[in-house]
Amino acid sequence: MTQLGELKTRLAELADLDNIGHLLEWDHNTMMPPKGAQSRSEALATLGRVSHDLLISDETAGLLDGANGELDGAAPDSDDARIVAVSRRRFDKARRVPAELVAEMARAGALGYEAWVEARRRSDFAAFVPFMERNLELAHRYVDCFEGFDCAYDVLLDNFEPGMKTAQVAALFADLRAELQPLIEAVRERSDRADDSCLHGSFPTDRQRRLVADTLAPMGFDSDSWRMDDTVHPFASNIGVGDTRITTRWDESYFASALYGAMHECGHGLYEAGIVEELKRTPLGHGESLSLHESQSRLWENMVGRSRAFSGVLAPRIGELFDMNVDPETLYRAVNRVQPSLIRVEADEATYGLHIVLRFELEQELIEGRLAVAELPEAWNARMKDYLGIDVPDDARGVLQDVHWSAGMLGYFPTYALGNLVAGQLWERAHADIGDLDERIAAGELGPLREWLRDRVHRHGAKFEAGELLERVTGAQISVGPFVAYLKGKLSDVYGI
Ligand code: ZN
Repeated sequence: MTQLGELKTRLAELADLDNIGHLLEWDHNTMMPPKGAQSRSEALATLGRVSHDLLISDETAGLLDGANGELDGAAPDSDDARIVAVSRRRFDKARRVPAELVAEMARAGALGYEAWVEARRRSDFAAFVPFMERNLELAHRYVDCFEGFDCAYDVLLDNFEPGMKTAQVAALFADLRAELQPLIEAVRERSDRADDSCLHGSFPTDRQRRLVADTLAPMGFDSDSWRMDDTVHPFASNIGVGDTRITTRWDESYFASALYGAMHECGHGLYEAGIVEELKRTPLGHGESLSLHESQSRLWENMVGRSRAFSGVLAPRIGELFDMNVDPETLYRAVNRVQPSLIRVEADEATYGLHIVLRFELEQELIEGRLAVAELPEAWNARMKDYLGIDVPDDARGVLQDVHWSAGMLGYFPTYALGNLVAGQLWERAHADIGDLDERIAAGELGPLREWLRDRVHRHGAKFEAGELLERVTGAQISVGPFVAYLKGKLSDVYGI
């Protein structure tokens, strides 16, 4: 067998271990009785250790060198060349970080999470400070394992968005903020134009389940290879070929949360399910760029789900299932209401970006030592006032609202807003390529868009970094323009601005 062949066999085993981990996590969040948590975390830790040891072993190092030698002349963007390159990058990163530090970060993340749950419940930031300081200190030690980056934040960002630079994100976010702030200001003056009362009422869960099932089927959810289960914090997971799992939660007083949440997770699921089978047991077999991943979920949730065209499909279904009268235009305006609010995960499309810009700025200040952890609430609240014009009543609804920092995940937030920008660019391009896209969506036909996305984006898996893929699909680097143009179109419909 060639060295490349042997390497691929090893990588296939690593991919299997990875998928076993996904299955354990899916089970943890959907099926497992609460008292199983302790032994499940031990099982996951063992799995992680086995997988890490297999990756960083001397045999893997030898196979990587050997395979690289055998590539000779293979196109740099061939599957084999990319499999070797991506494996090399992961190997190098994994080898640079001492096992003791990895274990310490996992432990601090778990303790931080526990402390955060309690601190948020009591809105007591002071109780969380030592845990956050510990995570920050470990993040610094992690950054010190690497060299050749422009700044410390680059190292953290790279874990969630390979290849992306802090300076590039900062420039994009400066543009985004400059566009969003005046838009939100203009909407504020016309807030009476959007009324979302039709979304609130009494909506039995069994009827909501039918609404969601009817909506996801034309997207590509089929029960032979997909599952949907209930959870507290919805997510999507792909366990392997023909096994995609999504989750949702139900609110009997507000159907929009389950409906659009399910479309969001189905978008993530379609990305994973659309990766070609040849890549499935390789390091390219799952999406790696979180902005690309989020572009898929947000494109389906917001650009399709909350479009005027699709509101025409949803409104009669909603009317029939919940025995109410809602016309498409009323639904369209309701689900696109813009309202500055405290909580990121409940934010509309226009204000969402500013929630992210705020977090990105604070993370950089923390990591560069310009801001102390104890000063976070004050900095948070001042920026919420400045960007969104709202006062934060307590830390539970302010600086303590998100789980990420408690678990040590610094550098993650920017990918959410980048996902919107990428989605905007893909949406623009899909319209150019599929001339009657809006008409197809209005007819409830979602296949043409799904197949376009599969062909341009999904099938490649982690083969290309986000910037490179966008360049191939749209001919342009990541930019703010298409997303803002899309948003302005909607706000002009709803608010007449
Ligand atoms: Zn998502």
